[in-house]
Amino acid sequence: MQYQTPRGLALLRDPLLNKGIAFTEQEREALGLRGFLPAAVMSMQAQVERVLTWLRSLSSDLEKYIALNALHDRNEALFFRIVCDHIDEIQPIIYTPTVGLACQKYGLIFQRPRGLFISANDRGRIADILGNWPYATKLIVVTDGERILGLGDLGANGMGIPVGKLSLYSACAGVHPELCLPVMLDVGTNNEEFLKDPYYIGLRQKRMTGAAYDEFVDEFVTAARAAFPGVLIQFEDFANHSAFRLLHKYRDQACVFNDDIQGTAAVALAGLFSALRVNGGKLRDQTILFLGAGEAATGIADLVVSAMVAEGASEDAALRRNWLVDSKGLVAKGRTGLNAHKLRYAHDQAPIADFLTAIRTLRPTAIIGVAAVGGAFTQDVLRTMAEINEQPIVFALSNPTSKAECSAEEAYRHTGGRAIFACGSPYDPVKLDGKTFVPRQGNNSYIFPGVGLGVIASGARLVTDEMFMAAAHMLANCVTEADLAQGSLYPALPRIREVSAQIGAAVASVAYQNGLTNGPAPNDVLGLVQAQMYDPQY
Ligand code: NAD
Repeated sequence: MQYQTPRGLALLRDPLLNKGIAFTEQEREALGLRGFLPAAVMSMQAQVERVLTWLRSLSSDLEKYIALNALHDRNEALFFRIVCDHIDEIQPIIYTPTVGLACQKYGLIFQRPRGLFISANDRGRIADILGNWPYATKLIVVTDGERILGLGDLGANGMGIPVGKLSLYSACAGVHPELCLPVMLDVGTNNEEFLKDPYYIGLRQKRMTGAAYDEFVDEFVTAARAAFPGVLIQFEDFANHSAFRLLHKYRDQACVFNDDIQGTAAVALAGLFSALRVNGGKLRDQTILFLGAGEAATGIADLVVSAMVAEGASEDAALRRNWLVDSKGLVAKGRTGLNAHKLRYAHDQAPIADFLTAIRTLRPTAIIGVAAVGGAFTQDVLRTMAEINEQPIVFALSNPTSKAECSAEEAYRHTGGRAIFACGSPYDPVKLDGKTFVPRQGNNSYIFPGVGLGVIASGARLVTDEMFMAAAHMLANCVTEADLAQGSLYPALPRIREVSAQIGAAVASVAYQNGLTNGPAPNDVLGLVQAQMYDPQY
C-alpha cells in the first residue's frame, strides 16, 4: 500500500511527521495547520527540555514510561531526540528494568496500539494482516510473550518488549523507526492471573502448542518474508523450548536471529575479551563455569567455543573448557534427561551437586552467572575464585537486580578488589581501599542495534555466528584503556551510536566477505553504515 503524506489535523496525528508546536509559521500556513496549534513556536531543543522537566517531576518510573510512550505515539522525532541525547537516563525507563513492570500492567496502561497483534484466530490470513502495515519494513522484532525477561508468561502484554527493543534500535543505532515493526504472536497464555483479569488485552485461552504452534509461526515467517523482502526478523523472549528450535529451523534459510541467545552471547564474549585485555590471558586458555544452562548460558558457551576455535583450539578442547551448572548440578555425561542444547557440554566428570564444589574441582578462571538465582555468588564462591586466580573473571549477568548472583560491591570486596567484573543489572561505582571501580552492565543493547544496522545496511541474507563474533571483537575494541583502568569492561553508554556504527560496519564487512549480499563491498563500509543512520531532527 502506498503511504500518502497527510496534511492538517491528520499530519498532527501522524507520529512520524508531527512536530507539535515546533511547526514554523510557514509550515503552519503551507500544511493546513492554522488553528490547530497555539501561537507559540518552540524549537526542538526547547521541547526536549520541556519534556525532560515534566518527566523528572513524575514520581514513579512507570509514570515516566507511560509519559514517554505517549510522546512516542505523538511525535517520534522528539521522542528519539530525547532518548539519543539522554540514553543513560531514559534507557532504564523505556527498556529494562521498567519495561518489565510495564508489561505486567500492560492491560491497564495500554493506550494506542503500536505494531501488529497477530492472534491464533488469524491463522490462514496472516499475509492479509501484514498487508495492512503501511510502511516498507526492514526489521521485525517478534515475541510470543511466553518468557518475558525473568517474569515468565505475560501473553500479549509482552508486546512492550518488541516495542522497547525497536526504540533502542532507532536510538542506539539509528535504524529508522519507519523501517521497524513490532509483532506480537498472540497464541494465548498459560498465565492464570491474566486469564482471569478482565483487563487482559490478549486472547483469553491457553497457549497453542505442538504442530499447530509451529505452523502458525511458519505462516508468519513466510508471510513476513513475502511482504517485506529481505526483512530481518529478531526472535525475542520466546521460552526455552521454542527459542532454540525456531532459531535452528530458520537461521540457515532466512535472515533471523535470537537476541536472548546470540545477542547475549556476543555481549558476554566482548566482556571476556575486555577482561583478557586486563589480565593478559588468551581466551583459548580460559576455563569457564556457567551457573545456568539456558538460552543465555548455552548461547554464550557456543560463541565462546567458536571464538576459542578461531584462536586455534580444537573444537573438542574448546568444548571441554566450558562447563555448565543447572538446577540439578553439573551438566555431565551420565546425567539422564538432558536437553539437546546442553549435550555438547556434558563432559566426562563425576556428578557434582553444587556450584562451590564445581569451582573447587574444575578451577575455572571465569564464572558467569545466568541462572536468575539471586545471591548465588556467595562470599565462599567469590573467595574461592580469588584463591584460585590472581584476577578472577566474575560476570553476574542475571537481572533484574533481585536476581543478580552478587552485587558489584560484593564481587570486589570478597576478592580483595581483584575481580574483573561485569553485571546484568546497574550498580553505582564502588570504593574499596582507596580505589574507585566503575562496573558496567553487559547490556545486549551494546550489540543488537549495531548488528541489525549492519545487516540492514549491507542487505545481508543471513545472520551468522561470525557476525556476532565480529560484533564482540569490535565492542571490546571500543573499550578504552581509561575504561579498563577503572574496571569498566564496556564503553560508556553515551558513546553507543558511535559504537553501534563500528559494530554495524564490522557485521556488514562479514556479510560482504562471505558473499551474503547482492552486491560487492563499497570502499568505505563504515561510511555506508553511518550514512543510513537516522538522526532525529525536524
Ligand atoms: P533460561 O530460562 O533459558 O535459563 C535459566 C537456566 O538457569 C536454566 O538452565 C535453569 O536450569 C538454570 N537454573 C535455574 N535454577 C538454578 C539453580 N538453582 N542453580 C543453577 N541453575 C539454575 O533463561 P536465560 O534466558 O538463560 O536467562 C537467565 C538469566 O540471565 C535471566 O536473569 C536473564 O535476565 C539474564 N540475562 C542477562 C543478559 C545480560 O545481562 N545481557 C542477557 C540475557 C539474559
